[in-house]
Amino acid sequence: MIPLKPIADLPTHEVVNMPPPIGDQDLWAGDIALREAVAREGAGPAAGRLADFGRLMGQDAVFEKADRANRHAPELRAFDRHGRRINQVDYHPAYHDLMEIAVANGAPNHAWRQNGPGGGPGAHATNMAIVYLFSQAESGVLCPMAMTYSVMPVLRNNPGAGDEWIPRLLSAEYDARDIPAAEKAGALVGMFMTEKQGGSDVRANSTTAEPAGAQTGEGAAYLLSGHKFFCSAPMCDAFLTLAYTGGGLSCFLMPRWTPDGARNGLFIQRLKDKLGNRSNASSEMELQDCWAVMIGPEGRGVRTIMDMVTGNRLYCATNSAALMRQALVQALHHTGHRTAFQKKLIQQPLMRNVLVDLALEAEAALALAMRVARTFDEAGNGEEAAALFRIGTAIAKFWNCKRAPAHTAEALECLGGPGYIEESPMPRLYREAPLNSIWEGSGNVICLDVLRALHREPAVAPALLAELETAQGGHALFDAALDGLKADLADRENLEFRARRLTERMAVLWQAALLVRHAPAPVADAFCASRLGDRWTGSFGTLPAGTDFAAILERALPHGELHGEVAA
Ligand SMILES: Cc1cc2nc3c(=O)[nH]c(=O)nc-3n(C[C@H](O)[C@H](O)[C@H](O)COP(=O)(O)OP(=O)(O)OC[C@H]3O[C@@H](n4cnc5c(N)ncnc54)[C@H](O)[C@@H]3O)c2cc1C
Repeated sequence: MIPLKPIADLPTHEVVNMPPPIGDQDLWAGDIALREAVAREGAGPAAGRLADFGRLMGQDAVFEKADRANRHAPELRAFDRHGRRINQVDYHPAYHDLMEIAVANGAPNHAWRQNGPGGGPGAHATNMAIVYLFSQAESGVLCPMAMTYSVMPVLRNNPGAGDEWIPRLLSAEYDARDIPAAEKAGALVGMFMTEKQGGSDVRANSTTAEPAGAQTGEGAAYLLSGHKFFCSAPMCDAFLTLAYTGGGLSCFLMPRWTPDGARNGLFIQRLKDKLGNRSNASSEMELQDCWAVMIGPEGRGVRTIMDMVTGNRLYCATNSAALMRQALVQALHHTGHRTAFQKKLIQQPLMRNVLVDLALEAEAALALAMRVARTFDEAGNGEEAAALFRIGTAIAKFWNCKRAPAHTAEALECLGGPGYIEESPMPRLYREAPLNSIWEGSGNVICLDVLRALHREPAVAPALLAELETAQGGHALFDAALDGLKADLADRENLEFRARRLTERMAVLWQAALLVRHAPAPVADAFCASRLGDRWTGSFGTLPAGTDFAAILERALPHGELHGEVAA
């Protein structure tokens, strides 16, 4: 028999100047900014478990599972083999493995498993650190995790449904079986608001609810009829949704199975063929006499369900920060090993400018997400804390999610052609990025929400300014920009036209404030010099020549072996 040649010895060429596989990553130990943010925002006591989780999530095997769960997208199995309607979705085994990891490690409920009404000190910050670590490998699985995390305040305010559902949602066990939730080891909750004729404008909903018995109003059973156009994670055990009663648009908790053990009247019409987020099923649904219980006061459905939306928005902001971090890590790895024009790419001045700019953006996004996570932990600590919690999620959701698509595109380009090829994780990060900006309030809607908060709640603007003023005196450009923001806030003309500019300024200033106070000087200086100077266009790689590129790269690099390349 003729011996086979090893792969490296292909007859035409030897593979050189290609980076080695990135292999197992330590997403905790390799991320200084994360470790600092965790300590700063009150999650320090969880550092040990986060370290373990960071090692787990960084494993090549976990990234492989994520790749498979996204390549083999879920399929609708509407009927069983006898023609009975079952409305099931089949997922690749890798999806279930990832779901199990997420639930076992508290992605949907860590904060709520802790003591205290809001979870206790550091509980939400820890939860978001878990989300950040998980998101770097996979995002689709996090959709039902986000919704389950976010529904808790709604259920806590509604003891009837809460007593029944909260213990199931606090479980550390993922139970994929499609059986009544009461018989399961753990449960997950989704959220259906969007209809064809109105997504942002949910008051355009046409789904109706009729009382199922003599009792009406909060806590009563209703039968819902209508459609929902975007229903993600449709295999969840229950869903929060909106429907009109005679008393107005109201919120309902709709289980997959009715209390008497029958399949509920929700019918999956089809699964969406999505740009990204492919491991997660998103469906269209018809509701036919679908049994549900009213949650919160009749006619106050939007108010009630908004308590769920807030948590989802924090998830979006955190997930976007994580996409940026992993995109940066991949870019650093590639450019650290690839030579062009006699130098490693990471040593080429213009590439260094791009990489450092990407690093600044990723660190700023993480700092903001973790700071806002702390506002969840502190929301009960008086008016100012509550006001910061109110506006913080909107600001971080808008800006982190807005920056992630541009960031991941630029990081992808750092890899050249291979970045565009599906074997690399880059296309998945890139395709995921725009989604966070769309769901849970698209960009404009979020900015209008910021205006609403500023108008309706007098404590909001002072709370935000007090937070920003903690960094005053730390950088001249910061001080000038803060004065500019104050002038912008005082100007009441054309506010709707200016809402994006205003929200963007708040976000960038908040990120700058956090970096000025807590990051090493080269990071804070470069961030302020670029983002708060008058020449910033938002594109990456435009940092001033005086930037301390080496120091910022050193901080961003996760892998010890590359440090030698950075000093150049
Ligand atoms: C993959 C995916 C999964 C989803 N999963 C779910 C789910 O599980 N449950 C669910 O309920 N929804 C889900 N959605 C729907 C999502 O929340 C909506 O698409 C989103 O809220 C926007 O609503 P819309 O699509 O109807 O767009 P529209 O409301 O028509 O908005 C279109 C654009 O107009 C802008 N706009 C709206 N109002 C204004 C205004 N007053 N001024 C200026 N601009 C404005 C918006 O910002 C947006 O850019 C999902 C969406 C996607 C893409």
